[in-house]
Formats: sequence, C-alpha cells, structure tokens
Amino acid sequence: ALDPNAMFKVGFLDDVYKERPVAPVVTRFPPEPNGFLHIGHSKAIAINFGFARHHGGKCYLRYDDTNPEAEDEIYFTAILDMVRWLGFEPVEITYSSDNFQKLYDLAEQLINKGKAYVCHCNDDEIKAQRGGENHGPRFRCAHADQTPDKNLEEFRGMRDGKYKPREAFLRMKQDITDGNPQMWDLAAYRVLEKPHHRTGSAWRIYPTYDFTHCLCDSFEGITHSLCTTEFIQSRVSYEWLNRELGVYEPMQREYGRLSIQGTVLSKRKILKLVTEKHVRGWDDPRLYTLIGIKRRGVPPGAILEFVNELGVTTAPSIIQLKRFDQTIRRYLELTVPRLLLVLDPIPVVIEDADETALEIDMPFSPKVPTMGSRKVRFTKTVYIDRSDFREVDSKDYFRLAPNKTVGLYQVAYPIKATSFTKDDSTGLVTEIRAVFDKETKKAKTYIHWVGEGSRACEVRIHNSLFKSEKPDDAEGGFLNDLNPESEVVFPSAMIEKEGFDEVRRRAPWPEAAGESALGKGGPESVRFQGMRVAYFAMDSDSTDDKIILNRIVSLKEDSGK
Ligand code: ATP
Ligand code: MG
Ligand code: MG
Repeated sequence: ALDPNAMFKVGFLDDVYKERPVAPVVTRFPPEPNGFLHIGHSKAIAINFGFARHHGGKCYLRYDDTNPEAEDEIYFTAILDMVRWLGFEPVEITYSSDNFQKLYDLAEQLINKGKAYVCHCNDDEIKAQRGGENHGPRFRCAHADQTPDKNLEEFRGMRDGKYKPREAFLRMKQDITDGNPQMWDLAAYRVLEKPHHRTGSAWRIYPTYDFTHCLCDSFEGITHSLCTTEFIQSRVSYEWLNRELGVYEPMQREYGRLSIQGTVLSKRKILKLVTEKHVRGWDDPRLYTLIGIKRRGVPPGAILEFVNELGVTTAPSIIQLKRFDQTIRRYLELTVPRLLLVLDPIPVVIEDADETALEIDMPFSPKVPTMGSRKVRFTKTVYIDRSDFREVDSKDYFRLAPNKTVGLYQVAYPIKATSFTKDDSTGLVTEIRAVFDKETKKAKTYIHWVGEGSRACEVRIHNSLFKSEKPDDAEGGFLNDLNPESEVVFPSAMIEKEGFDEVRRRAPWPEAAGESALGKGGPESVRFQGMRVAYFAMDSDSTDDKIILNRIVSLKEDSGK
C-alpha cells in the first residue's frame, strides 16, 4: 500500500528536479523547534525526505533555532521522534545555531563589501522608508551612508553589548528600487538579551531567518531547497545573499501548504485547548498534531499515503477532515486484522448450547489470508451489542428480537431469542435467553459477539472536536464551536481475549503492507478492525490490567459509529 515514491511521479517536483538534475540530491527539513509538529508538517517531511529518497540522495533534519525567545528543549526530541515515526532517518541532525560564528563572519564580510549597515531607526521610521501605508516613495536613512569601517565598529558594538534590544540592527543593503519588499534592506541581525539553549549567553545578537536560511542551506550543500509558497517573494533575497557572498547557491522552489478544515492547528489555539482542559493534552487523539494523530492510532503509512494522494503542486490545499479519514480507512482495510469487540454488551444465554466452550477458527482478515487465523472461544453465554437487540420485533428489522433469528458471526447455527429480562429502575435489558435455530441454515444477518472469558476494556470514541467546518468563524471564537460529544467513552466494552493477545504479540502486524518498517513500538501500533464497529488502536494510557482503546476511524463515512 505504501509507495513513498508515488508522489513524485506526477506534479511539479519532477520539473524542479529537471531544473537541476544533479546527484546526489541534498534536501533538508528545517523546523523551528518552537512547537509540536502538525499534519501540515507531514507534507514538508514527506516532500523533503521523499524527494531525496526518490533520487537516492540525502536529507538533513535541521533545527532552525535562531530565536531563543520562542524555542524549547522538549520540541527537539518530539520533532525527531515524529520524523522517525513517519519512516525517515535524517542523514545528519544539524542546528542553525552551530553556524553562529560562521554566519557572524559572513555578516562582517557583507559589511566590508558595503552591502550591510547598522541601523538605529525605529519601526515607524522603517515603515516610512518603505513607502508607508500609502505606498509612497521609498528612501534610505542616513545610516545607509556609513562607511564599512563605521558599520564594522557598530556591528561589533552590537555583539559586545553596547546596545539594548531594538536600539540597533544590521540591515542588508539590497535594492530598494525593486518592487519586491524582500529587497527593501531586510534585517540580518538583531540584539536579543536572551540565553540560547545551545549557545548559552555566548551571543547577544541573533541572525534573522532571511539571513540564516539561505546561508545554512548553502553550508549544507542543499541542492533543492523546498519550502512553502509564503516564501515565493523571499526567493529573491535568498538568491541575492548567497550571490553577494559568493558562496554555493542552492535552488529554492516552493510548494503549497497543506491546510485542514474543521480543526485548528495554530500553537496558540491548541495551547488554549490544552490549558483549559478541553482536550487531554497536546497528544489528544482529537487534535491534528502528529503526536495526537499517532496516539489516536493512525498508522504513519496512512499519513504518507494521504500526502501522496493530494499530490504536490504550488496551489495550497484546504482539505476536509473526512478526506483524511477516507485514506486512513482504505489503508487500514488491507493492513490490520479483524477482531470481535462489543461496545455495549448484553449477555445472551443459549439454552441448548454445550456447557463446555467450543473453539472456532477465525481468519484475521478475509481480505488478506496471509494474516492467518486464531481460535475464538464460543461459550454458552455470549455477549452481543445492545444495539443488535430489540424488545419489539418489526418486519424491516433483521437482527435479534423475541422469536427472531439472527446469525452469530462464524457460528454454525443461528440463534433465536426466546425471552429477556429488564432492570426495572433503568429500563435496560440485562439478559437475553435464546436457542439455536437449527432449521434456518443461513441467517439473513450476522452480528458480532464475544464469548465468556473475554476482556473488559474502555473504548474512547472520538468525534470531531468542533461542530462546524470552520471553527474559527464561530461567533465568539473557536472555543464556542466545541462539540460536546467529541469524546464518548464506553466503559463496558469487551473484546475477544485470544485474538487481541495475539494481535498485541505480533504488533506491528507483520504482514501489513509497508507497516513493518514504520511506526515500530508503542501501544498505538496495536491496531485492528472491530468487526461491524470501527477501527481501533490501543491508547498510551493502557496498562496490563486496563486496556484502553481509541477509535481510529469509523468503518464508513458518517456512520456515527
Ligand atoms: P507553524 O507556524 O504552523 O508551526 P511554520 O511555517 O512556522 O508553521 P516550521 O516549524 O518553521 O513551521 O516548519 C518547518 C517546515 O515545515 C517549513 O519548511 C514549513 O514551510 C513547513 N510547513 C509548516 N506548515 C506546513 C503546512 N501546513 N504545509 C506544508 N508545509 C508546512
Ligand atoms: Mg513552527
Ligand atoms: Mg516558522
């Protein structure tokens, strides 16, 4: 099912390669370690690592850690974990901050060339120089006329603590007559009095994205620097700086961002959901952070398949959640085994069944015979789902009811209900009595069941976290759009013990196409289809005594189950 090369057979990346058909191809995935990765990043990961893999090249994981104000240690490991989980191994892990000295030296070189100056203007002055709100004429401030020697002295002053933040910054001397704002003397360095998590207090000045990114790409010999389309305008300044400094010039090309409709991805919003306890944490299965998607039990292969299906173009894609679900469902259908799971069990006593349990050999998947089979215990008392029984029969109803026959999945004879007991206080059926119906050879409908000795578990059914497709448009903000039924917990679910233990033992499912190499380890690698119910994975809150399952996705779109 998984072909990481598939996405490059079509679309614009072929053309990108043709523009520079070199070997080896060298790419990088350059996250800023200031948050957890989300579904959108999986596209960036797939593209950068996938493009390199496709061409037999290499891809770096580069932490773009030039802003000590926003970054945190925990994100470094979390990011690497997700890259590996998706099945990619960086050829090397690098840090923009490792180049701080080299970048500094190049900044001095740029100053010496007369292509950078230290400026002391404030935000309003800079705005005015750039034409102001009415797009008036552009002009340079007097600082632009300083000699290289003066700039060098000033820049060293910045470095040595002569200036407070915002009192001075290094600007590149580009081309203010160019219509592209990325050429209007961008900032290259600013003063920040903040210790850096890797370089400590060695530096008081930090390079900007515009100064850092193209140079780090150059240092690493990146052949194709792939980024999202917000950076189209930046291509000009990217090329300008490398050219001015006479360093190796990578080629920047852009692809469309992946956006998902029906959820929020911004760090600030997810943080609010987490701190106000609307979700269980950053890894809540209802979120579209990669750690959340992983916890829900979505296999990494399904995410890559999703990115492949969307294709790579320069157009941004706004995708509905249900489209992601469709891909997951299609992927799981052929890669995970099927088990018996009853969400809301009622005991059915089959009066004429033997007291001793019978073992029924059941295949793990009718679609994939190589998955093998397991023995399921059929006992005199079995459990069926409450929704498969009706106290009053009707013509258009084909499951169990008094005097009505229904098949039990893979059991030789169908059963017919004879009577039932109810709890007076709750009005709920507590037990059904039944007999085998040996006259009916083939039942119209087969329902799922589990035998005595099955294992109790907690099942969390996740629905969309928001009621609408556009939570951000809700009156009063996205928090007013929360779906009160986004997590429904079944505390009394039961699962056939033998099959489940076997799945746990063999997980990740060895025969599952593509999966064996991906997503090794972790409880969420235990995935299966609960027949007639949904796809499930084991939640990381599970212990040996208590199994907690997450619904990965329903069996059908909008089935409510
Ligand atoms: P966010 O603010 O959502 O975290 P970002 O652009 O700040 O996004 P980085 O952490 O800098 O993200 O991202 C690393 C790489 O992932 C960048 O090359 C970025 O362009 C890419 N990326 C981020 N979001 C998306 C997305 N939605 N679709 C495709 N690529 C993305
Ligand atoms: Mg980010
Ligand atoms: Mg960023």
